[in-house]
Amino acid sequence: MGAEDWATLLRELDQKVTPARCAVLEVVASTDAHLSADEIVSRVADLVPDVHRATVFRTLERLVELGLVAHVHLPHGATTYHLRQPGERMHLHVLCRACGDVFDVDPALLDDVADALASSLGFRLAADHAALSGVCAVCASGSAGDVDVEREL
Ligand SMILES: [Zn+2]
Ligand SMILES: [Zn+2]
Ligand SMILES: [Zn+2]
Repeated sequence: MGAEDWATLLRELDQKVTPARCAVLEVVASTDAHLSADEIVSRVADLVPDVHRATVFRTLERLVELGLVAHVHLPHGATTYHLRQPGERMHLHVLCRACGDVFDVDPALLDDVADALASSLGFRLAADHAALSGVCAVCASGSAGDVDVEREL
């Protein structure tokens, strides 16, 4: 999608079309990487040179409220932002605490846990809101991993 398409999408939602909003949507849509707000700020600056950092932060929050962008908290790290696909369940995240890699995993993976929490506590789990922490296969197998695994980032 290009800038015009983002403008159309915002208009359909009765939202103001601003260069910052279009640029933020373009940036989060253009990558599968898990970008922090700071990384989004610098990529937006490439598209809209005069946009202020605080504007990008505010824009991100607004797009999350509108349901166009999802945010995910990473343990010991920054919050990351994703384009939200309409009608599609947000995938879950696991983060390697040795190398910092983030993996996308099946959104249904914790459904049994969510069901158990709902029936035992009436608790409604938002499993997609934060990444789970652990150690990836590469770090778990390598000798370097043995050292790093014990290190809290
Ligand atoms: Zn790792
Ligand atoms: Zn992801
Ligand atoms: Zn949050």
